Amino acid sequence: MNGITIALSKGRIFEETLPLLAAAGIVPDENPDTSRKLIIQTSRPDVRVVVVRASDVPTYVQHGAADLGVAGRDVLIEHGGAGLYQPLDLNIARCRMMVAVPEGFDYAHAVRQGARLKVATKYLRIAREHFAAKGVHVDLIKLYGSMELAPLAGLADAIVDLVSTGSTLKANRLVAVEHVLDISSRLIVNQAALKLKRESLAPILDAFTAAVRP
Ligand code: ATP
Ligand code: MG
Repeated sequence: MNGITIALSKGRIFEETLPLLAAAGIVPDENPDTSRKLIIQTSRPDVRVVVVRASDVPTYVQHGAADLGVAGRDVLIEHGGAGLYQPLDLNIARCRMMVAVPEGFDYAHAVRQGARLKVATKYLRIAREHFAAKGVHVDLIKLYGSMELAPLAGLADAIVDLVSTGSTLKANRLVAVEHVLDISSRLIVNQAALKLKRESLAPILDAFTAAVRP
């Protein structure tokens, strides 16, 4: 593939990447939130967008099926980052990784007691590293979504999840008790493509760099 392929997920990442693409002269022909197409052509005949699940973006870029991608720090840590160059924090899709528990649950006490804490999360690696660094023993339970339900249904004592406004936690009578990481999305580049397609990729990287908002 001679042109440039950019992997994006639909929703907030696609929306928040649009102004950065525009700065590089790239305007997608369609929006994946209203179109069912998974390959979207753009205003530039040499550039196309492939629409994938947020957690699949690093995989497409790692294997060179996409040259560029945009992925959350959460997704990048869970993926591990092999084969990826991460030149730029785009400062979009900002949120926080937090530990949350049901209202009234004495988290500090539970942690102090040295009891094993049952923690449900989609982010196993982040959770494992967080609790290991604190010396807290945990049993991790992998979930794929709706983490908020886990403590309410008796599956876990706590969850590790992304929080932005906190309204989902509040609606489910959960409270955030610990900050794990600040999250934003980054530009990722296939390491081989960066060398082989440097001439066409460099102007896009430069335009993104200039367009990032602090
Ligand atoms: P999928 O829907 O495929 O399971 P996802 O829920 O992780 O994946 P998105 O909701 O589009 O997909 O999230 C994409 C990225 O945006 C996440 O990896 C994270 O970095 C960031 N993000 C997630 N939730 C929020 C939020 N509430 N506010 C801001 N950024 C968020
Ligand atoms: Mg989501």
